[in-house]
Amino acid sequence: MSNLLSNSASGTLGLLTDTEGGAARALQELERVYAGVVARNAGEIEFHQAVREVLFSLVPVVIRHPEILDAKVFERLCEPERQIIFRVPWQDDKGEVHINRGFRVEFNSSLGPYKGGLRFHPSLYLGIVKFLGFEQIFKNALTGMPIGGGKGGSDFNPKGRSDNEVMRFCQSFMTELYRHLGEYTDVPAGDIGVGGREIGYLFGQYKRISNRYESGVLTGKGLLWGGAQVRKEATGYGLVFFVQEMLAARGGSMDGQTVVVSGSGNVAIYAIEKAQQLGANVIACSDSNGYIVDEAGINLDVVKQIKEVDRLRLTAYVEHVPTARYVSDGSVWDVPCTVALPCATQNELDRSHAEALVRNGCKLVAEGANMPTTPDAIAFLQNAKVAFGPGKAANAGGVATSALEMQQNASRDSWTFEHSESRLSEIMTDIHSRCFQTAEKYGAPNNYVMGANIAGFEMVATAMMDLGLV
Ligand code: NDP
Repeated sequence: MSNLLSNSASGTLGLLTDTEGGAARALQELERVYAGVVARNAGEIEFHQAVREVLFSLVPVVIRHPEILDAKVFERLCEPERQIIFRVPWQDDKGEVHINRGFRVEFNSSLGPYKGGLRFHPSLYLGIVKFLGFEQIFKNALTGMPIGGGKGGSDFNPKGRSDNEVMRFCQSFMTELYRHLGEYTDVPAGDIGVGGREIGYLFGQYKRISNRYESGVLTGKGLLWGGAQVRKEATGYGLVFFVQEMLAARGGSMDGQTVVVSGSGNVAIYAIEKAQQLGANVIACSDSNGYIVDEAGINLDVVKQIKEVDRLRLTAYVEHVPTARYVSDGSVWDVPCTVALPCATQNELDRSHAEALVRNGCKLVAEGANMPTTPDAIAFLQNAKVAFGPGKAANAGGVATSALEMQQNASRDSWTFEHSESRLSEIMTDIHSRCFQTAEKYGAPNNYVMGANIAGFEMVATAMMDLGLV
């Protein structure tokens, strides 16, 4: 069986250097695969979008390696190894019974146990879980760590629920999910709506029903019970380390940049923290109701207090910092900046937002969230020569640090904050180089989307072919 990695490394390859016939055939085959995915997964529009974005950046790989078509690698990649959907009954504080739906999509385990977060959000359905799980396969490969791809969650809305209600929900959720998990099988973490509190309740219930203190079964744990330093900060910090590399590749740095961040959750908060530490002025962030602009620089202590401790809305910021503005209509992307970091949710930055960013002088967009930028917005930004860092590379620091947490759990070790942060920084530098060099090698310099998709795909496809038809 041929090895995509060694073969593709052996020479310059690219759509531009290949015959038109080869490109046409590759495109035709990918169109066929994509049509099959749409037909088999009706209505799952986010999943279609994620698959489309990956498939059509792989044309140069298909030209060079037609054997992956015969081995049906694309069809296998687009079909999860296992999908679990289950009922989650729970009672609120008044005794009323609620029924939610739980999901876990175990997408691909060629490189290691399924790894990917759990999302609790009322909008969650199978199409979103599958888009996230699909993206996770390539992201996890890019980290260079031995982890496969998966994702899960529930349409449960934790907003406004008491700690006891969240605990009862998490216990019910884990009562079904635990049978599918294990440190060598499937290792969830957090995502939207699932932070340290939820991971604690989930781990507590797993421990109770399995009668095992199996630390490596979940990541994002508290430091006293098997968690790792820097995991909480990792996605946001990693994003900024990646941005630093992107800027350095263009002769710039974070120092002096004006930064706008969307969201004010886990990823956003720690992206702001690292950007500020590196000398940037972060002037705006948002939640799902509106955004704040603080030209003097966001006071992160206030944001942390509001979001992490008090669990309030961002409107509370202007009560603490009266010089700031709260805006409830319009978009955070209307705020002029040189660096934009979407860190909230999928498809939050569309073409009109991209136009506003370019008009206002933005030079770099990097995704902290998963798939926050719509395909036409990405095309617009790339045409306008805005450096664009896709989430599967730029936000991979979270899952990479989760893999470091698993490593510490397996060896009963715990590393210092400084050591963990320097490992994260090295990993993000490596991911950047991998994407940058792969894009160049495939005739698309500076195209991080192609670089990330191809580099991740090469690793996963090679492993899939090595492991046979499983
Ligand atoms: P959090 O729940 O901590 O924060 C989410 C933030 O995004 C909140 O400010 C929330 O506002 C906002 N938001 C959520 N949904 C919407 C929406 N539909 N419209 C507008 N704003 C919205 O989640 P995370 O910070 O963990 O995750 C953010 C993104 O980063 C997600 O795309 C996630 O998949 C991705 N990601 C997270 C990783 C992690 O380690 N946590 C790792 C890699 C990617 P509000 O409170 O008003 O809902």
